[in-house]
Amino acid sequence: MDIFNADLHIHSPHSIAVSKTLNLDSMLDTCKKKGLNILGTGDILQPEWLKYMESNLKRQKDGSFAYKDVFFILQTEIEDLESIHHLILFPDFDSVKEIQDKLKPHSKNILDEWGGRPRINLSPPALVDIISDSGAIIGPAHAFTPFKAIFRQGKFKSLAECYEGATKKLTFIELGLSANTDLADRLESLKNVSFLSNSDAHSQDPRSLGREFNRFDIDNPSFEEILLALKRKDNRKIILNVGLHPKLGKYYNMFCNKCRRRILFKNLKKKVDSIFNQYSLTDNFVIYYSNDPISSRLNYLDQVSKNKMNCPACKEELNKNFKVKLGVSERIEKISTSIDPKHPNHRPPYFNAIPLIDIIRSVKNIKSTTSKTVLNDYNNMIKEFGTEFEILIDVPITKIEHFNQKVSILIKALRNNEIKYTPGGGGTYGQINLDI
Ligand SMILES: [Zn+2]
Ligand SMILES: [Zn+2]
Repeated sequence: MDIFNADLHIHSPHSIAVSKTLNLDSMLDTCKKKGLNILGTGDILQPEWLKYMESNLKRQKDGSFAYKDVFFILQTEIEDLESIHHLILFPDFDSVKEIQDKLKPHSKNILDEWGGRPRINLSPPALVDIISDSGAIIGPAHAFTPFKAIFRQGKFKSLAECYEGATKKLTFIELGLSANTDLADRLESLKNVSFLSNSDAHSQDPRSLGREFNRFDIDNPSFEEILLALKRKDNRKIILNVGLHPKLGKYYNMFCNKCRRRILFKNLKKKVDSIFNQYSLTDNFVIYYSNDPISSRLNYLDQVSKNKMNCPACKEELNKNFKVKLGVSERIEKISTSIDPKHPNHRPPYFNAIPLIDIIRSVKNIKSTTSKTVLNDYNNMIKEFGTEFEILIDVPITKIEHFNQKVSILIKALRNNEIKYTPGGGGTYGQINLDI
């Protein structure tokens, strides 16, 4: 048995807003730096991307697909009739083509230039049946996000509600950037499925590709072995999920659907009568003040859940009413079956990560994500210590200290879960607060 780091959900330049320079060679480059061994191909149902992958990936004796020394799992994301996104992993090219043929009559864009993530007009159970009949596997993608996800506000509360009789064919759900195991294991109905943490990358940038991944203990990097691990059979398993701290994700916190301000509650010392007219506005936040912020917030969440809470900022600025929507954390709060996570015995640990480039940017106080200084430091650290994952998770702090003390302090705090975050929401990523 061997250890493989796998990021099983990415996209191709045939999806909207994907970098044109994303290709096998640029992916390979990032995999080397990050320490990724297995990558999803992204968008494998799209005809041109399929052709590109088929002519470049070499089938190995063990059944896996390789490009040079990185392994690939044939993968796509699709949207169904309920506007839910699903992640699909395929055993081989024959099953990709078989499924492409079966889905064609139900989709207007599956063969399009821009059909990277096709819309398939089938219900979730019908889709699961078709996919699994052809030997591939499927599960809900970024399961809790406020858009295009199975558990979004106003949609489903459990897997069975959505997939009905096909539920038992599911082996995994994908957590998404704004959730982790502690949040998802508050739902009793998820205790038997495996959790995948994937990047959903739209570029080969090391801040994106591999920002979430799964560490597999399997015999070889093939689809069959990944499937055994998801089913937790023959000693195959996921031994670690790694992903952004949920607060760094784009959809952690509730937000106004129009101005995209995040809604926060803070303590107010003096007594006030009603919380709903005590607030302040900034460019990014509506902050409510209350002498009992916990119960005020719960009260507020009730209203938001019923789709009855309007954004006070939009009312002031546009004199129009726009609704506040639940973020991932509040939606989980509303549909959870326990306050604390109840991890089943099989659940691996979850490492809350921050991309190394963002750690370096923070300590240098550099906003640009393409700064030469930051990239130089990043590349030097990789040269010195090995891969990004080793630096974040394994390399002794004393070694990093010699290289850069400030970076080492932040990585130590990360490993000890001591970092404070400003939560992301409404499409804006969260941020690290440096006063640790
Ligand atoms: Zn998606
Ligand atoms: Zn607003």
